[in-house]
Amino acid sequence: MPLVLRNSFTRRKEEFKPMVEGEVKMYTCGPTVYDYAHIGNFRAYVFEDLLRRYLKFKGYKVTQVMNLTDIDDKTIRDSQAAGISLKEHTDKFVKAFFADLDALRIERAEHYPAATEHIPEMVTLIKKLIDNGLAYQAEGSWYFKIDAFPDYGKLANIDKSGMKTGSRVATDEYEKESVSDFALWKAWDESDGDVFWETELGKGRPGWHIECSAMSSKYLGNHFDIHTGGVDNMFPHHENEIAQSEGANKEKFVNYWMHCEFLILEGRKMSKSLGNFYTLRDLLDKGHSSLAVRYQLLATHYRQQLNFTVDGLEQAAKALERYNDFVTNLTDYSGGESSGEAQGVIDKMLAEFEARMDEDLNISGALGAVFDFVREINRLRAENKLSADERDLALKAVDRIDGVLDFQQKKEALDSDIEALIVKRTEARKDKDFATSDKIRDDLLAMGIVLEDTPRGVKWKRKV
Ligand code: AMP
Ligand code: ZN
Repeated sequence: MPLVLRNSFTRRKEEFKPMVEGEVKMYTCGPTVYDYAHIGNFRAYVFEDLLRRYLKFKGYKVTQVMNLTDIDDKTIRDSQAAGISLKEHTDKFVKAFFADLDALRIERAEHYPAATEHIPEMVTLIKKLIDNGLAYQAEGSWYFKIDAFPDYGKLANIDKSGMKTGSRVATDEYEKESVSDFALWKAWDESDGDVFWETELGKGRPGWHIECSAMSSKYLGNHFDIHTGGVDNMFPHHENEIAQSEGANKEKFVNYWMHCEFLILEGRKMSKSLGNFYTLRDLLDKGHSSLAVRYQLLATHYRQQLNFTVDGLEQAAKALERYNDFVTNLTDYSGGESSGEAQGVIDKMLAEFEARMDEDLNISGALGAVFDFVREINRLRAENKLSADERDLALKAVDRIDGVLDFQQKKEALDSDIEALIVKRTEARKDKDFATSDKIRDDLLAMGIVLEDTPRGVKWKRKV
């Protein structure tokens, strides 16, 4: 069955055909590491994880790049406010980002290039734009001349008719109404402090948009299969990426653009600037599990807005419990007399799961098929109509779809189990039974849990 994806550029559903048979190259706009990412951001990253995993399910070899924006207006502003270097500031949030990715079971991309490590590539790209008559200098900074690029505005459907030619915008983010020549390279001024590079373009720093054009072409080539992001990335960021990449390289940039809708809270986009956001940490501190957050972020189709509620999170936890109880009970089941029904139930689920996901990642339909299967197999098990071979086939089918969903609990130690082991270790140390306490520490380490003895007691964290 062909995979059909909705291309935001053509605004149509299209059969997915990679440029190279069996391989997919995709670029996803990553975080600006000036603060903790919120779960609205993670909705975008979970959508990209679903896409990546489903492409692998379909047999493709995926090469994914996600950039880390560690230089922009916001990272400079906040590092200065914190009184530390840009690198020290962004390093902290890069670490936190990866810890959150792991907690949400977002598979690692193949490359995570940081903007500050690709300044020469950006300078080279800007020089190409200058050579092609698409960039000019004003007050020391370099701007993209959108009038000289007739295709500008095609992705976000921009009407350029009322635009004043030559008007410029220096900030990284701006609204559609202020569509203007945008900054490629920003000349240094005092507000940037010690953040600058001395380059052929002058002393300064890159604009936000240029990094994705430079880094995608370095790791994926000038022209590649899929580019993703949240809908707010469409303008100006992706529009500007297209202008830069196609303007510099004189070839098509991306075949399929995919954008996920917002996660909203009380009717408004979750965002840092509105102040209506939760980080993953906020939710874990309230006692929710990261797996329930994954479920909730994943279970609504990516092109529908997702209204985040605590009630939704609790329902997600219940669905996960049902799924995991099913796996546990089936694993423990020793097998009965086959009624000959199981094979059909398994085949139907696998076929429906794939058929629904092939329809532009119709996850609700796919999950519907999974829970029908859970109910049917549970019934056969309860009635002892499932043989041991059929049990194994059903478990294999779960493993196959779980490669996409990653909802199985078994891979992670529960917080309560960890706490219980820590109490045991503390008791062993009190009794001076260091052999036992060391063994517990090693066992926990093997489970990916690192302990730290502090004056206020033992602290633990999951290894990143
Ligand atoms: P940023 O760090 O602001 O560049 O955002 C990182 C990613 O999160 C981008 O792909 C955004 O489009 C996406 N994003 C930001 N807010 C939301 C939201 N409320 N819902 C879904 N995606 C979002
Ligand atoms: Zn980008």
